[in-house]
Amino acid sequence: MQADVYACGNPFTFLKLQQVLVDPAASDEDKLKANGAALDLGLKDCLDCKGCRCGVGIDMKTEVIRPLLEANNLITKESHWHLDFKKIK
Ligand code: SF4
Repeated sequence: MQADVYACGNPFTFLKLQQVLVDPAASDEDKLKANGAALDLGLKDCLDCKGCRCGVGIDMKTEVIRPLLEANNLITKESHWHLDFKKIK
C-alpha cells in the first residue's frame, strides 16, 4: 500500500497522534508537535461531527478524539460532546 493513500489523514491518524500524548517516552516537544499536527489535520471539524466509527470496535470518539479535543483546549472534561450519539443512532 502506498503512503500517499493517507495524504489527507483519516481517523486513525488521530489515533497515532493521540498515542504520542499518552506515550511516557514522548517529550513535551513531541506532544506539542502531535497536538499541532492534529489541529493542522482539522481536529476542530470533529466538534461538528457525530463521531468516528471503527470496524473493529475501538471507541474512537471517546478514546481518541475526545482526549485530543481536551488536550487542545477545544472542550473540557465537563463538555457534553455528542453525548447521546450512540443512543440516537
Ligand atoms: S470525529 Fe468525525 S471529523 Fe473527527 S476524525 Fe472522527 S469522523 Fe473525522
